[in-house]
Amino acid sequence: MNLPANVALCSVPFDAHSSFMTGPALAPTRVRECLHNGSGNYWTERGFNPIENDNFSDIGDLQFSSYLGIADAADGAIRQGSRLLTIGGDHSISYPLLQAHRRHYSDFTVLQIDAHGDLYDNFMGNSYSHACPFARVMEEGLCDRLVQVGIRTLNPHQRQQADKFGVEQIEMMHFEEKIQELHFTRPLYISFDIDGIDPAFAPGVSHHEPGGLSVREVMRILHNIKVPIIGADIVEYNPHRDHHGITAALAAKLAKEILELMMR
Ligand code: MN
Ligand code: MN
Repeated sequence: MNLPANVALCSVPFDAHSSFMTGPALAPTRVRECLHNGSGNYWTERGFNPIENDNFSDIGDLQFSSYLGIADAADGAIRQGSRLLTIGGDHSISYPLLQAHRRHYSDFTVLQIDAHGDLYDNFMGNSYSHACPFARVMEEGLCDRLVQVGIRTLNPHQRQQADKFGVEQIEMMHFEEKIQELHFTRPLYISFDIDGIDPAFAPGVSHHEPGGLSVREVMRILHNIKVPIIGADIVEYNPHRDHHGITAALAAKLAKEILELMMR
């Protein structure tokens, strides 16, 4: 697979499909502030500087006028010759983002880090809720394999949906054994819901689900990825729930580390 060398940071300030509280629309500004405020440097843990790099650009907010319009906005940005790391927004945005990616990439896996499966057929009458995007993704065949890591909220309906769509799930209660067996062969799209991480490390999310991943466990997963990355999103950061920007700092760190995976 021939991937563009350029990687663009973009943002989607959208939280209209959040079921419980709004806030993720405010995430892009806070994450960018944190990335550039001088409290840390631009280098990753493994010694790569993705920001001061000729292949990096920050193209700001994607321009769209409706939820489903996010797909054309992302498609336009990809057509400019970049892979995209999208920050901000609730998790509903991953469905139109993956519609856009599918127009360009025929064979890829999605790695979803999340406390939740986001596989509801509909949630409170909304089939585009942030509880539903991966049901839509699987119905439309927008990826070739979906692997969810960090899951700890499944109910019978969501288990049924996972079976129906053939979704692979590494639930937290089996994390230590199952993570050893996780291997990727196809290129990867990473969809990173911050609430996959334990609220002790990431309080700035709408849905606090104890018993989640540590930041270090997430870093091990990322550092073990050897396949090319076609795109990524970091969603569900909610500044209203954060304490002293702890979660903004985490989102900024994840952005740098995922950019390294995309650019190295
Ligand atoms: Mn999610
Ligand atoms: Mn979630």
